[in-house]
Parts: sequence; structure tokens; C-alpha cells
Amino acid sequence: MSQIYDRVALIGLGLIASSMFWAIKRAGLAGEVTGYARSEATRDTARRIGLCDRVCDTAQEAVEGADLVVLCVPVGAMGAVAKDIAPVLKPGATVSDVGSVKRHVIQAVQPHIPDGVHFIPAHPLAGTEHSGPESGFAELFDNRWCLLVPVENSDPEAIARLRALWEGMGSNVDEMDADHHDLVLAVTSHAPHLIAYTMVGVADDLRRVTDSEVIKYSAAGFRDFTRIAASDPTMWRDVFLSNKDATLEILGRFTEELFALQRAIRTGDGEHLFDYFTRTRAIRRGIIDAGQDTDAPDFGRGKAGS
Ligand code: NAP
Repeated sequence: MSQIYDRVALIGLGLIASSMFWAIKRAGLAGEVTGYARSEATRDTARRIGLCDRVCDTAQEAVEGADLVVLCVPVGAMGAVAKDIAPVLKPGATVSDVGSVKRHVIQAVQPHIPDGVHFIPAHPLAGTEHSGPESGFAELFDNRWCLLVPVENSDPEAIARLRALWEGMGSNVDEMDADHHDLVLAVTSHAPHLIAYTMVGVADDLRRVTDSEVIKYSAAGFRDFTRIAASDPTMWRDVFLSNKDATLEILGRFTEELFALQRAIRTGDGEHLFDYFTRTRAIRRGIIDAGQDTDAPDFGRGKAGS
């Protein structure tokens, strides 16, 4: 793979930025990658593990001269970071981001983007429940989707270049409108996270089942909820606060379906339950057929912990 940008600046050095750095290096997609994180502790860790060619003490220093700047901070922090770096953005540069919500980020960032700088929001649909500079790895984006969400009048050449970067990092790339993105993600990611957080919270509150029983016998479905519910609290607080409408719409539908299933259980309507579960099983099949998850029983975890 050949070099796509001379200099890339990563602002925020957590799971996504560190994975981007290792993926960029793996394929030689940039001449130099600079990085900035808010806390000295994270910057020190980054320097210690060789994350970024140059770690800077200010965001402005990291951004100066960069052809591509990627905002990799929680959604609620995007606007303030964009405002801070705006005065030093190089004419002709591209600003992008990796935020899990798009309409809110566009509203927060776009007003700060100077004329002559391209703004192309993006969202890699890849992650883990780990966070911080040491959690990243080069393969995170392999065969995962990255959605580009160009704003009005985005420059086709700048979009093509950003697309090439994400493809070079292993992703499949699609373009999507911001509002549709936020609705799709409310269904596929945001509502499921809230449900997992709730389920783990319920188990924690239920005093008739002891904590040790919950942990010891967690193989029966609960374990998969705990993985999701271990995700970063700051990131997820910001996701729900900034994708309010779509998440509430999906949760409303979820509640209706839950009531219908509750009723089927109470009235002994086995046919309803069986038909429902048959339909959902087909969705799992579709995800496997699309190459987005393993077909191995229990996600290939074998006998470990079962
Ligand atoms: P992360 O591992 O928690 O790292 C976040 C980084 O942002 C850290 O370097 C942190 O600096 C910095 N930061 C936090 N608050 C800040 C603030 N107020 N101002 C400036 N910097 C701040 O997060 P991540 O998982 O990489 O997520 C980054 C972005 O990617 C988020 O917008 C998230 O929605 C999106 N995303 C996440 C996933 C996922 O599964 N994790 C997937 C796709 C997209 P310090 O370390 O110094 O505190």
C-alpha cells in the first residue's frame, strides 16, 4: 500500500486512535503521524509504547502542517477540540472524526472549520469494551465497515483520499447521510448497549441472587451483556446525550415488543414466542453470512468459562 497523506494528526489517543496509528503504520499510509491527548499520563504512555511518531503537548502543535486531522475524542468533546485547533489548520487539509454519533458532531464541529479546509465526518464500526492508548491494535478495522458521512459540498477528491485511508487500514467503506447513520446506529449499537447496561444493573440490584452466583453462573447469556456493559462510561454517556431522538425512538419500539413478549409468556402463547425467536435467529444467520461474526459455537470461546 502506498502513502496517502504526508502527515496525519490524531487528537485523543484512546482505543480508536491507537488502532488507527498501528493500522496506518502496518500499511505505510502516512509519512508522519502526530498525536495529542489531554492528560500528561496518556501522553507519557503513548511515548513509552511508541504510539505516534511524535506526541505533542498541545493539540495545535500536533495539527500544524497536517494534511489530515482526525478527532478521536468522546463525542461531547469534539466541538471544543475543533475550536481549539481551527486557527492552525493548514489550507487544503481535511478534518475528520470517528465519533459514534454524526448529526451532533457535525453541528458541534462544522461551525469551526475555516474556509479552504475539508470536513468529512466518519465512523468506524469497530471497537471493543477496552479503552485508552494501550488498548489499540492494527487489526481492529479489518473487514469492518467504516461509514463516511460527507457534509454538503464535500470535495469528492478529499472524500476519495479519506476512503483510501480507511480501505488501507482494512475497512470496507460506505457513505451515508448523518440522520440515517444515527438511526441505524441506534438500532445496531446504541439501544443494545443501553439494554446491556440495564440487564447488568438489574442483576446487581437483585438481592435474591447473590453477586457471586451472578459471576459464577454467568455463562447463561449474562456474560455477553457484561462485556458490552463494561464499555467506557464517558463515551457512552456522550453517545446517549447526543443521539437522543433516535435512541428514544428505538427504545420505545423495544418496550412495546417487550410487553408483547411478556404478555405471551403470561398467557402461555408459545406460538408467538416460537415465531419471534425463529425470526431473530435468521438475523444472526445474516450477520454470519455477511462475514461480520464467527459461526463457531459461543463465539469460538470453546469450553473456556462455560
Ligand atoms: P478512549 O479510549 O476512551 O480515548 C478517548 C481519548 O479522548 C483519550 O485520549 C482522552 O484523553 C481523550 N479525551 C477524553 N475527553 C476529552 C476532552 N474533554 N477533551 C480532549 N480530549 C479528551 O475512547 P475511544 O474508544 O477511542 O473513542 C474515541 C471516539 O471514537 C469516541 O467519539 C467514540 O464515540 C468513537 N468510537 C468508539 C468506539 C469504541 O468501541 N470504543 C467505536 C467507534 C467509534 P485522556 O486519556 O488524556 O483522558
